[in-house]
Amino acid sequence: MRIVLLGPPGSGKGTQAALVVERLGVPHISTGALLRNAAKRGTELGLQAKSIIDKGELVPDNIMSDMIEERLGRDDVAGGFVLDGYPRNLAQAKSLDIMLERLNKPADEAIHIDIDTEQIIKRIAKRAKEEGRSDDTKETVRNRMRVYAEQTAPVADYYAERGLLTRVLGDGSKEEVLQRILSILDLNTSSA
Ligand code: AMP
Repeated sequence: MRIVLLGPPGSGKGTQAALVVERLGVPHISTGALLRNAAKRGTELGLQAKSIIDKGELVPDNIMSDMIEERLGRDDVAGGFVLDGYPRNLAQAKSLDIMLERLNKPADEAIHIDIDTEQIIKRIAKRAKEEGRSDDTKETVRNRMRVYAEQTAPVADYYAERGLLTRVLGDGSKEEVLQRILSILDLNTSSA
């Protein structure tokens, strides 16, 4: 199953992607994690990306499409994948479509996690304490939310127009949100 998981910063999409891949046995492809790893390793791309991430801006599309194309070309995506954090704007959504078409692996589902601003602020404050992400500061979060509203929210509409989008409520416990996602995917949730 090939799934695109969408949602604003702090919606829990990384957490849910990790839980969903456990059930599906497919790779979790998080562009944010790929970028943070590159920054940790100190590669040129990683260092360039870090200064952009820390401002809450988007890393340029050409860098992202090379990164995602390389990742989607690996053997472990044969059985599917959960994409987390990509696409982040309409240009990326279109380029992903072309890429997946070429690989004969079109997306099956796009899921958007809906959450209100108050919850986002609470969750990110909690994550800032637990994980210490350098882009979870107040000012950067504000910018990430603006970038999300302007550039990423239209991606959900893009998938909706193609009949691929389902929205789930992101409030409640991790397990509750997971159950909502699994039921969209028609997965047997009795063992959950
Ligand atoms: P995330 O872990 O998905 O919240 O991503 C953290 C940061 O990495 C974002 O705020 C962006 O700066 C950068 N990033 C992640 N994915 C993308 C993408 N698809 N396009 C551009 N920038 C990205």
